Amino acid sequence: MGEKQRITIARGDGIGPEIMDAVLTILEAAGATLAYDEIEIGEKIYRQGITSGIPDSAWEIIRRNRVLLKAPLTTPQGSGFKSVNVTLRKSLGLFANIRPCKAYAPFVASAFPGMDVVIIRENEEDLYGGIEYQQTAEMTQVLKLISRPGSESIIRYAFEYARAYGRRKVTCMTKDNIMKITDGLFHRLFNEIAAEYPDIQADHQIIDIGTARVAAQPEVLDVIVTPNLYGDILSDVAAQVAGSVGLAGSANVGRDFAMFEAIHGSAPDIAGKGIANPSGLLQAAVQMLVHVGLAETAEHIHNAWLRTLEDGIHTIDIYRLGISQKRVGTQEFARAVIERL
Ligand code: NAD
Repeated sequence: MGEKQRITIARGDGIGPEIMDAVLTILEAAGATLAYDEIEIGEKIYRQGITSGIPDSAWEIIRRNRVLLKAPLTTPQGSGFKSVNVTLRKSLGLFANIRPCKAYAPFVASAFPGMDVVIIRENEEDLYGGIEYQQTAEMTQVLKLISRPGSESIIRYAFEYARAYGRRKVTCMTKDNIMKITDGLFHRLFNEIAAEYPDIQADHQIIDIGTARVAAQPEVLDVIVTPNLYGDILSDVAAQVAGSVGLAGSANVGRDFAMFEAIHGSAPDIAGKGIANPSGLLQAAVQMLVHVGLAETAEHIHNAWLRTLEDGIHTIDIYRLGISQKRVGTQEFARAVIERL
């Protein structure tokens, strides 16, 4: 057996520790050749007065291991605290956010059984650039930043992703009918880069009608590439339309680092009850295994997870009378996946 790859894990807040335990148990049972370094970031660190939520010791481990599996964090309300998620994405140069949104019908209820969309969102620029200020007592302002290098990187990433995963189409979504210079640049670069990929279809939709299409006819969409804010909103809509926010994972990828996480938050309303669905973090872990070159283990886990869903073994968020066979808690769900490995 080869040497174990060291990855960093953060158990997070709320349901984070419960779903991380479940995921680590499954990775272990599947024989994933990984070793873990654990860091503490988020709520407890804010309470120590570190406004970034990330201590220096954690940065050191994150940078050394290069790959981070992160459970959800609670974002403190009020000004003065920085979002750990945004800080990690920007500091580590995680320019691409990849979020597959797939329906698992008929095993999990979905209005769109044929849906299989991947949203590739620019992750560092746009209105998340961090230049926001109070101009006068009456007026606030934020700067929307769309750069040529940032846009080229994400658009090229989307086409390369489509090629690597046998996808047929990339759709660009912007609001360039109104933001002619910023979104206009993104759209123009999309057209230029699309010409280099004649094997992949390419089209453009205005983000508002594009979002309506995701909600009403997602089967016609394949890969979507879009600036940061539109992608943030669209990817939650898409995950919910596919079935449940509890099922989707996402990858944040840069040139030197990568971070994998569930798309949902820390769910304080169900924390500590042992009922959370660990699937979102598990899907993120599957993406992570592919990223670190353990594609076989990834497929093995993914198939066992699919069989668990197919057998109707469902956590409360996806449990439906007539479709589900058994309602289970977090750990029981993990055991069911392990039995199917
Ligand atoms: P949430 O995603 O935590 O919860 C929304 C609803 O979905 C809740 O009813 C919750 O019980 C349910 N839910 C979420 N995940 C579930 C799971 N795995 N299994 C079963 N049910 C699940 O959203 P929220 O309540 O708006 O946010 C709570 C906190 O999480 C906030 O502080 C927010 O800022 C933070 N947050 C963090 C991340 C992240 O770390 N990436 C992402 C989103 C929100």
